[in-house]
This record gives sequence, C-alpha cells and structure tokens, in this order.
Amino acid sequence: MKNIAVIMAMDSEAKPLLEKLKINPDQAEKIDDHLPMKVYKTQYHQHNISIIISGECKRNKVQNVGTAPAVISTITAIKDFNADFIINAGTAGGFKKRGADIGKVYTVETTVFHDRRIPIPGYQDYGTYKSQHDIAKKFATLLDIETGIISTGDSLDMSPEDEKLIESNLALLKDMEAAAIAWVTDQYSIPTLFLKSVTDIVDGEHPTEEEFFANLKLASENLGEKLIELIEKI
Ligand code: SAH
Repeated sequence: MKNIAVIMAMDSEAKPLLEKLKINPDQAEKIDDHLPMKVYKTQYHQHNISIIISGECKRNKVQNVGTAPAVISTITAIKDFNADFIINAGTAGGFKKRGADIGKVYTVETTVFHDRRIPIPGYQDYGTYKSQHDIAKKFATLLDIETGIISTGDSLDMSPEDEKLIESNLALLKDMEAAAIAWVTDQYSIPTLFLKSVTDIVDGEHPTEEEFFANLKLASENLGEKLIELIEKI
C-alpha cells in the first residue's frame, strides 16, 4: 500500500480521472484557508490516493497553472499527506519533429527548465536543473507508451531564447510544471512519475492556445485512462 499523490494543474485535466474514480468534483477539501489548492482523497487498488489540483486564481478567476502553485501542491503532498509516490499528470505541448502527436500520452525520463537562464558559473546547471527519472522507462513499458524529455517554463508561448534551450535538450514535450515538481521531489528523494498528454503541437502551424482548447478534452480523457492503468500497476 502506498500513499500516492497525483499533482494536477487544471480542473479540466482532472475531470476524467475524478469520473473514473467516482469522485464528485464538488466534494473537494482545501489544503489551507489561504491557499487555492483543492484536494480529493480516495482509495484505489489498496493505495491511498490524494489528488491535488492547483485551483482558481482569486484575482483573475482562471486556473493556477505554472510552477509556483505546483510547488505548493507537491510540498503539501509530501508533508501533509505523507506521499511516498508522486505522479504529476497533465497536458503538454509536443514537438512533431520528435514524434509527438495530439492526444498521445507519455512518461517522462528527464525534466529540465528552459526559462531559468543564469549565466554565472555554477548557476547555469542550477537554473536548468536537469533531472533523470529512472522509473519512467519501467512504467512506459507497463503502460505500453513512449517516454521522452520534458522542458518546463512559466510561459505558454515560446520565446527564441526558450526555443534554443528546448532544442539543445532535445525535448519532446513542453509544459509549465514538471521540472518544478521534480525539484521538490528531488529534495526528498521521492519517486516521481510524470504522465503527460499532448494538447498542442508546438512546431505545427496552429496557434498554441487555439489548439490547446480544441484538444484539451481528448487529451484529458486519454490521460485519465492511463492514470487509472498506472495506479493499478504501482
Ligand atoms: N489558456 C489556458 C491555460 C493553459 S496553460 C486556460 O486559460 O485555461 C497550459 C497548461 O497546459 C499548463 O498547465 C501546461 O503545463 C500545459 N501545457 C499544454 N500545452 C503547453 C505548451 N505548449 N507549453 C507549455 N505548457 C503547456
């Protein structure tokens, strides 16, 4: 039996998973009176599951995507819910030149940042904070999916500087949370499995935000299916 925490950014990404686990989306608990994160607790396949979602921005009434909320969710999972296995499930942009396809779900063998450029000796590697996740290959095989490299930054768009780093790391996927979550779980040496479903092709012809919304439902459905399969195999 494990204490599994599933860290997710957006409500819409989590919806299919909640449905499959027969969890009512209105029955979320809060992690703290001041914080927007929501948590759903259940048991599945003998594991204790906490699903932590970043919640809504109190100022802008949109979802709290990005690294800062993801870090809070992760530290809460570890300190308040004793998580000994962390899953970061979400959507990502994909690069077609590396084989990515809309709706395809991947595990992640390497996380790296592309927007923490600090050109001072020693700080460069701290900034990119490249981390390997050994369990990615094992679970990719068990789930019959592929594994790849994800590059994280706090923007949905891609500046030329971001692009250079993403390219130099041969990233297959681009998101806004993974490497930050990896930084936290690295401090505690907790095994972390990243499961990412592609909503948009970054090097394609459609604007990212249009493609993101057009494919969010499909990508989240596929993500939910693989998440259930994954938990059954832990
Ligand atoms: N416009 C959306 C915000 C989505 S932000 C809204 O208003 O609801 C994108 C979310 O999906 C982030 O959590 C990020 O991790 C992921 N994502 C999907 N495609 C991405 C891409 N091309 N680049 C970066 N993050 C992406």
